[in-house]
Parts: sequence; C-alpha cells; structure tokens
Amino acid sequence: MKPLNKHTYAFSESVIRNMTRICLQHQGINLSQGFPDWDTPEEVKEAAVKALRDGYNQYAITWGTPNLRRALAQRLGAYNHIACDPETQITVTCGATEGMIAALKALINPGDEIIIFEPFYENYGPDSLLSGATPRYVTLYPPHWRFDPDELAAAFNPKTKAVVMNTPNNPTGKVFSLEEIEQITALCQKWDAFCVCDEIYEYILYDGAAHVSPASLPGMEKLGITVNSMSKTYSATGWRVGWVIAAPEVTAAVRKVHDFLTVGAAHPLQEACAAALKLPESYYAALAGRYAACRKQLFDVLQEMGFNPNLPKGAYYIITEVPHLMEKYGCRDDFEFAIKLIELTGVASVPGSSFYSRPELGRKQVRFCFCKKTETLAAAAAGLRRLK
Ligand code: GLN
Repeated sequence: MKPLNKHTYAFSESVIRNMTRICLQHQGINLSQGFPDWDTPEEVKEAAVKALRDGYNQYAITWGTPNLRRALAQRLGAYNHIACDPETQITVTCGATEGMIAALKALINPGDEIIIFEPFYENYGPDSLLSGATPRYVTLYPPHWRFDPDELAAAFNPKTKAVVMNTPNNPTGKVFSLEEIEQITALCQKWDAFCVCDEIYEYILYDGAAHVSPASLPGMEKLGITVNSMSKTYSATGWRVGWVIAAPEVTAAVRKVHDFLTVGAAHPLQEACAAALKLPESYYAALAGRYAACRKQLFDVLQEMGFNPNLPKGAYYIITEVPHLMEKYGCRDDFEFAIKLIELTGVASVPGSSFYSRPELGRKQVRFCFCKKTETLAAAAAGLRRLK
C-alpha cells in the first residue's frame, strides 16, 4: 500500500476518547472524557422532539438554520458583547471540534504559524497539522497558569497567522483575565494575526471569575474568531451542534470549508439549540452552581490524597502532579499510571502528556474531570481513597 496522508502518521487517536474506551472495558468511573453524566434539560429535549415532529428533517441551510443564527446573535450580543450579523457572520458546525478545524482550514496557508498556549486541549495539535500550520507553544505556568508576556511577544513574527486559545481553559481551569486578553489582542493587532478562541466553557465559572471574549475587544472586529457549541452549556455533548463567529470575509471562507466537510449539523438539533438559547438567565447561574459543588467534591478528595491540586477558576477539569503515587506504584510514565489508577481505584483519568507538545512536561500529571453527579464523584472518591 502507498503511504497514507503523512499527517495521519504524526498524531495518535485522541487519548481522551481512548481512555473512555478503556474505562468502559474496566466498567470504571469515567473522570477522563469531559461530558456530564446527567441528561440534557427536559425543555431542550422536548424542543428536539418537536422539531423532529414538525418536519425539520432535511438539510438546514448549510451555515445554519435561521432560527439558531438569530438566537446566537442575540445571545452573543447580550453575554459576549460581540455584535454579529446572523446573515454574514455565523457558521453552525458539527460541534466546536468541526468549528475549530474549519476555522483553521479557512485561515492557514503553507508556512503560516499559529501560537498555542500550553498545556492545551489535545485537539489543537492535530488541528494544526491537518490545517498545515506550524505551531509555536507559549507556556502557561502553574499554579496560576499565567503566561510570560515577553515569551508571548517573542512568539509573534510576520508568519504568525493566529493565536489559538481556550478560555475558560481545558485542562488547567484558567480563566484568562481582561488584562491578559488585552495583551494577547494587542499583539494580534500589531502583527495582523487572528485570535481564534474556543469558549465552550464560557458559563462554567467559579469564585466570581468573568468570561471575556477576545473578539469583543476594540480593534478585534476583523481578527476575532469565536468558536463554541451547545455541548457543555446545555449538557448535550452528543448532539454535535457548534458555531464559528467571525467577520463576514472570514465567515465566507469558513462556510465554504464547512460546506464541503459536513454540509451541516443535524437540523432538528439546531432548532432545539435555538430553544436552549432562550432559557432564562437562572439556568446559567444554576449550571455554574452545580459545577461549583462538583469542583469542591473532587478537589477535596484530591487534596486529601496528597495530589496537591490547583483550584480551577473555570471549566471542569483538574490537572495535577502525581509523582509520589507513580513512585509508589512503580509507574514509568503517565500512561502506565492512568492504567494503574483505573485498576486500583476504578477511576479513569487522562494521561497528562496528551496536553503538551513536549510529552515530558506532562509525564507526571493526570487530568480528572468533575462534570459528574454527586454519587458518581462520591464513588470516585471512595475508589481514590484505596490509594491510602
Ligand atoms: N472536551 C472534553 C475533554 O476534554 C471532551 C472532548 C471530546 O471528546 N470531544 O475531555
């Protein structure tokens, strides 16, 4: 056989999603892949059923059903302070995953560089390869996961096409501050680079943290690209409804890529997403409150077990160092440890190296998610206590 596409040899299948399969084999507790184990809100499911019955069963307009684009424009104005025209600035995609790769495919030419904050959500590695971008990584330093502004400035150069960022952040739980986003967007404007921001955890915030969309800052009207989805906000990760918000010229390119990748996201689920976007404000406060309780439950047990975790400010992950346990159980790396952990405790995590371009940086770390019911987290805590 002739060699397949060279990029497919350069990355593995998702470590996160592979851990879910390993977890299923062990009938373990899945604190690896970040999806809730509670169901989508009843009224959102009802809206999907209604849409199916009302005949929304053929293709939607390829860039999204008008009801959803109008609801998105309204919500983006109100929450994100981004003014966007539903006719020319919104592309509905099959999840934020498609949104990110469609955006990068629309932007990147051979030789272009993108800047990625590290550690990063693992998809951005393959996304950069498949789009043909050369990634440059800028470190987020624990415990507060700040970047060094000089290091960021030094990563920009005439080849920089975009910064790819994620706030609130997976896997660190960092919420980029307004000041940090001002630094990033000032550099984007200086170097005429886009800022592609994955904001999928935008409502999952703790301790008064505020979400800032880079595209909402002055001067970012043409350079800001906002990627998001209904997965996390409406607990519907299996629906695969996401979106990309960008300037009309950029949107025109994103829509073409999207059209030939997937034609469109599931039409009835897009209609249901439009209904979800009209839930009252109390819904979002309740969601954040629920996650705050989950965060405490996982954080407390990790602390009790001597993991030395950092308290996340947003999203629903804790990435933590585990050198003492790796030594105790004779594990040579994070993968061996994740397997050992599931065997000993029934708890599935994600090996830390999958969040780094240089795997050695994450070799002594694992990531846990806490988007699970009280009873699931209690069972996970009981399992983890077996390590004592
Ligand atoms: N964002 C989630 C995680 O990091 C799930 C990602 C996925 O599998 N699409 O675990």
